[in-house]
Amino acid sequence: MAYSYEAPVSQTLFDRASLVTPGGVNSPVRAFRAVGGTPRFMVSGTGPYLTDADGREYVDLVCSWGPMILGHAHPEVIAAVQDAVARGTSFGTPGEGEVALAEEIVARIEPVEQVRLVSSGTEATMSAIRLARGFTGRAKVVKFAGCYHGHVDALLAAAGSGVATFGLPDTPGVTGAQAGDTIVLPYNDLDAVRAAFAAQPGEIACVITEASPGNMGVVPPLDGFNAGLKEICAANGALYISDEVMTGFRTSKAGWYGIDGVRPDLMTFGKVMGGGFPAAAFGGRADVMAHLAPAGPVYQAGTLSGNPVATAAGLAQLRLLDDAAYAKVDAVSAELRSLVGEAFTKEGVAHTVSAASNMFSVFFTDEPVRNYEDAKKQEAFRFTAFFHSMLEQGVYLPPSAFESWFVSTAHDARALERIAAALPAAARAASEATA
Ligand code: PLP
Repeated sequence: MAYSYEAPVSQTLFDRASLVTPGGVNSPVRAFRAVGGTPRFMVSGTGPYLTDADGREYVDLVCSWGPMILGHAHPEVIAAVQDAVARGTSFGTPGEGEVALAEEIVARIEPVEQVRLVSSGTEATMSAIRLARGFTGRAKVVKFAGCYHGHVDALLAAAGSGVATFGLPDTPGVTGAQAGDTIVLPYNDLDAVRAAFAAQPGEIACVITEASPGNMGVVPPLDGFNAGLKEICAANGALYISDEVMTGFRTSKAGWYGIDGVRPDLMTFGKVMGGGFPAAAFGGRADVMAHLAPAGPVYQAGTLSGNPVATAAGLAQLRLLDDAAYAKVDAVSAELRSLVGEAFTKEGVAHTVSAASNMFSVFFTDEPVRNYEDAKKQEAFRFTAFFHSMLEQGVYLPPSAFESWFVSTAHDARALERIAAALPAAARAASEATA
């Protein structure tokens, strides 16, 4: 596919990057491989806008893959960061900021009695799985096809996100032993979960699930699915781990737990709670967390865990996220979903706008999408045409048909108008696209 617009400075940077970094990027989906073209190298962000190295401005619908729920460079978050950074960047000792952030998380999310701070969502899920295994003395882990929990070896079986984009069934470098204790089941299928427990009595340590998946596109749990998981786990002595790295502090004040109220044994967080810095966490039942070093025998550690700058950013962001902020993000999302739906309907493009609170994505199919197999049946080639038309018109979408779109409190009427103005031509491009 040829693109009618250019990004010469980004292209030069990408060429330079490709010499010194595999594929030119530090996280695969940024390379635009699913959609083609030149990845945009961003130089600044303000509110709902990003500016690239060629000086073009975009309305940002990626929001750093979720964290920037207040928009870019929010003055109060920036002030908190500047204040923290002026006092030093890392001490390798306990500090008050990490206590305050932990208290904020515990106060917001009732099932989290204790929490441990880490630096990435991957670390959070990896540690939660280790803790579940240490606590139960069992080896096996159930996960769902299309759910992405970071690049933890044992969880890279049938993962979504970048793995979905690249269509890798597995990744080289993960050994049979590392993935051998992972049981991958179809999402939204409680019978499959019951059957797995029946086939392996006393062997399953935990079920880990995205609280509401956003890594195969947005595919919410069917009514009763999470509650069913919890019930099956409880009946079989396994832990129910809800991965809220994406949904946590985004879908409501208490994340997806605030919506479905199903009480996990352990939860994982990242993205929004770091305010754009590397901060993540896992937490849950105090009796389970008590097994974690130094209180208990399950080892887990981190040089930069609870970093004072990251915790200051996260805390500042969380404190600004009150009911009014969530109402704003939800309203922006609802308006955008209806604009997008209308544009595709007008052009006769088969589509489903699939939402979970303010997270949403578009599937190019009008069949129901309940799991990863359904998601893969969409006409993803239409997304490529749609994406490039939007990009050309100054709207930055996730560069893959299998990712959630994210909005922020900063997406105001002007930003929405710019998106609305871009949609008709982009929907037409999607309708004219061929496989
Ligand atoms: N879990 C979920 C649900 C995620 O969406 C992600 C990242 O997208 C992760 C875990 C991994 O987080 P990180 O990229 O910070 O390692």
